Amino acid sequence: MDVREKRLREELSEIMNRVYTKGLASSVGGNSSIICREDSYVLITPSGLDKMNVLPESIVKVNLDGKVLDGGVPSSELINHLAIYKSREDINAIVHAHPPTAVGMVSAGFVPKPVTPEYVVMIKKLSIVDFAVPGEESINKLVNGLKESDIVLLKNHGVFSVGQNLFEAFARIEVLEEAAKMVFAGKLFGGMHEFSEEEIKEIIDKYVRKKEG
Ligand code: 13P
Ligand code: ZN
Repeated sequence: MDVREKRLREELSEIMNRVYTKGLASSVGGNSSIICREDSYVLITPSGLDKMNVLPESIVKVNLDGKVLDGGVPSSELINHLAIYKSREDINAIVHAHPPTAVGMVSAGFVPKPVTPEYVVMIKKLSIVDFAVPGEESINKLVNGLKESDIVLLKNHGVFSVGQNLFEAFARIEVLEEAAKMVFAGKLFGGMHEFSEEEIKEIIDKYVRKKEG
């Protein structure tokens, strides 16, 4: 195994630990993957195991058709991950989690609007699709949802977030759940201000420029 694969396995293990310890999925929920496009393989978390302790060596390596090259049983969401990589050649990592406040809120029909600078910059637009088990229907829904967005929420289930790397994909989920909790708390006290188009533009100008340069 080369140095790169070793590092990516460690990152996947770290990300699943964060997903679990941050309460963004239960010990049997969530999964994540990373693609190495140069060498045509995907590393994905194994199915069902204790997500807090996914060891680098228990990560499953598959080819781009999903054939297992190394390891045990890949995540039950593998087909969704592979379809997303095919349709979004600009991304390298996918994190799937079950952020409880965001999923509950959106599944009940309330969509949190941009209420924090991080939400504006990292989420931009939240795609929302109806529940579907992994299969052709979920693939269509997720791929469509991710055409104009980097995070899609599957009602009554969870989110699929994409990024240049695992940390970016993970942060989007964290930011979404943080905003959903704020909106929830704000509701008890009369509701939070939702940024106007002008404020959104100002935030993007300030924060994105700062980040780039
Ligand atoms: P896996 O353990 O098979 O990855 O499933 C977890 C999950 O969240 C399914 O949606
Ligand atoms: Zn799930």
